[in-house]
Amino acid sequence: MHLPDIVYLSPNKTTEALEVIEDCGNSCSVIAGGTDLMVALKQRLQTPKYLIGLENIPEFKKIEEKDESIRLGPMNTLDEISSSDLIKTKLPALSQAAREVGSPLLRSQATIGGNVCLNTRCRFYNQSQFWRSTREKCYKAGGSYCHVTKQKEKCNAAFVADLVPVLIAYGANIKLAGLAGEKMLSLKEFYTGDSCFPNQILNGDRVILTEIDIPIPKNNIRSVYKKFRFRRSIDFPLVGVAVSLDLDENNRCRDINILLTGVGSAPVEIKKAKKELLGQRWDDELVSSVASLASQEIRPLKTNLVSPRYTREIASLKIKEALQEAGGKNGKNY
Ligand SMILES: Cc1cc2nc3c(=O)[nH]c(=O)nc-3n(C[C@H](O)[C@H](O)[C@H](O)COP(=O)(O)OP(=O)(O)OC[C@H]3O[C@@H](n4cnc5c(N)ncnc54)[C@H](O)[C@@H]3O)c2cc1C
Ligand code: SF4
Repeated sequence: MHLPDIVYLSPNKTTEALEVIEDCGNSCSVIAGGTDLMVALKQRLQTPKYLIGLENIPEFKKIEEKDESIRLGPMNTLDEISSSDLIKTKLPALSQAAREVGSPLLRSQATIGGNVCLNTRCRFYNQSQFWRSTREKCYKAGGSYCHVTKQKEKCNAAFVADLVPVLIAYGANIKLAGLAGEKMLSLKEFYTGDSCFPNQILNGDRVILTEIDIPIPKNNIRSVYKKFRFRRSIDFPLVGVAVSLDLDENNRCRDINILLTGVGSAPVEIKKAKKELLGQRWDDELVSSVASLASQEIRPLKTNLVSPRYTREIASLKIKEALQEAGGKNGKNY
């Protein structure tokens, strides 16, 4: 597969980038590390005339501690995120999740901004143009039929970014910049839940992601990320689970966030199981029953090669593993 002819532009400032995006209208795509976008271009899933590279905007590369939060530029590579001592110490689950993405070569190029803005995936869509031409166009490709649900109502492609559930569990906020100005919003609000236009950038707003702010968790909060993938060397998550847990001095659950990737059109927050855990004394029996309850809250679809039932089983195991690691055996590591 070869790339089509494309004009590459690389502005030096955010305002310059936004002006170029405005001038190019719908015929441009923003490119960060290009690890996902290049594949989409080769598969003709996107056909822009212009690519706007962000690598020459200096403030897009930063890892700094300020006002009790860590501020990250969108162009930090996943290698830089996973090897930063500041992130390893203050946000260990983020470092862990960055290490789990793809392969070493991919992580040296892929960025955190590209991960936050990643498109959803489906085995009927993320294929070559030739492969796709053998079937009716599906909803996400501009048709009106979904090969997964065999229905017409909507697309169900899966959200699969590894870093996002961790960032949401930490309570991250993001800054979006457009020609009209900047806005801060919680990362949770950035995702639309619509698999065709999964975030506020891919749904056509002419904005770019300029910063990710993560409040530094208090010392007693423990967080982990657990991922299941088929190919251990390089693969998207079938299921990824992020947990941040706050246990009080009596081993009772004061607060908990459980976020999943790979099992819905957006990052999935486990809410009912959270209610079961709040105020409860942490022990292995509680963890096992809640993990099984949590996996009933998700509705995975066959957007990959395994059955939804299998995905739910794996989710239950990974949630249990994440809760056990966050709380320690009967809360004893705490
Ligand atoms: C073989 C392979 C394996 C992979 N495995 C994984 C995996 O295990 N886990 C995982 O999460 N991902 C995986 N990926 C996907 C991808 O590599 C990562 O998600 C990566 O972090 C994307 O970052 P990037 O800088 O390369 O993004 P790009 O490909 O440059 O961009 C991705 C999207 O984000 C948009 N974008 C990027 N930055 C901005 C910005 N600042 N403002 C607005 N829009 C922006 C682009 O327009 C594009 O739509 C894999 C990809 C491949 C090819
Ligand atoms: S979920 Fe359905 S509409 Fe969406 S990409 Fe897959 S086949 Fe297409």
